[in-house]
Amino acid sequence: MGQDQNGEKPVVIVTGGGSGIGAAAARRLARDWRVAICGRRKDPLDKVAAECGAVPFVADVSDPEAARALVADVVAHFGRLDGLVLNAGILVNALLGDMSLDDWNQQLAINLTGPFVLTQAALPHLLERKGAVVSITSVGGIQTGPGLAAYSASKAGLQLMTQALSYEYARHGLRANVVAPGWIRTEMGDEEMETMQIADDLEGAYAKVSEFVPARRAGTSDEAAEAIAWLLSPAASFVNGAVLAVDGGSLVANVGMTFFDKIMEGGGSPH
Ligand code: NDP
Repeated sequence: MGQDQNGEKPVVIVTGGGSGIGAAAARRLARDWRVAICGRRKDPLDKVAAECGAVPFVADVSDPEAARALVADVVAHFGRLDGLVLNAGILVNALLGDMSLDDWNQQLAINLTGPFVLTQAALPHLLERKGAVVSITSVGGIQTGPGLAAYSASKAGLQLMTQALSYEYARHGLRANVVAPGWIRTEMGDEEMETMQIADDLEGAYAKVSEFVPARRAGTSDEAAEAIAWLLSPAASFVNGAVLAVDGGSLVANVGMTFFDKIMEGGGSPH
């Protein structure tokens, strides 16, 4: 989004802007936007703010009052709100039979209910500016894996919530889209690699989980940030309700074909 007729840059909130994809999005968006970042920890927010000029707001998006106050504080600070990046999220791995109700509720509260409350609070401001929303879901919200019952449910819910938003308000000039990342090297990605104990080090673990990903590697936060920036920008002015996978092609890979993928790598033939 460019400057408006008053020469003012538009304003965007990036939740979870202190690390990983959110921090990369804040740095990338700071070229064209005035950026507000939020998270629960102050130190990482301050570090990203010092790097790119974003304004930090300590807030827990799973607390409805705090989420509403965040929107009010950002609008009070900047005088307007044009964009919302719903990026904050957590993953707690547990098989469905073993998952505590607390772990279920926490993932739903941060990954789904928080974005709903934030979006509702931001909506009048976004409509006034004909703004845009980008939600960060996951390929795990489209397909799933062991231990992901709550995470996948929350991300699938966030996708459909975003698409409902895109449907209901497109006629008023609002756009809402989804970025669905595959494995991205961040704090969350690293924690997953460590939890699963599938290799001696992080490099080995990312190589293992990417073994059947067509691109044969995990992505970077900057690669996810480019997709977010594009969907928010006027370059995507007729893109609404879309789900853009940033996953090195993992979603096109059918699990039943991975055996052939291995055999045919390097020009081999399955016959
Ligand atoms: P990080 O753990 O680095 O980032 C998550 C961010 O969310 C942190 O900055 C964290 O800050 C913030 N956050 C968590 N809970 C809250 C809360 N209650 N209120 C406010 N902020 C909160 O991981 P990623 O950058 O990887 O994750 C970003 C998004 O991308 C997530 O939604 C994740 O599900 C999604 N994703 C990531 C993938 C990956 O492989 N990395 C793959 C697919 C999707 P703090 O702890 O200070 O609150």
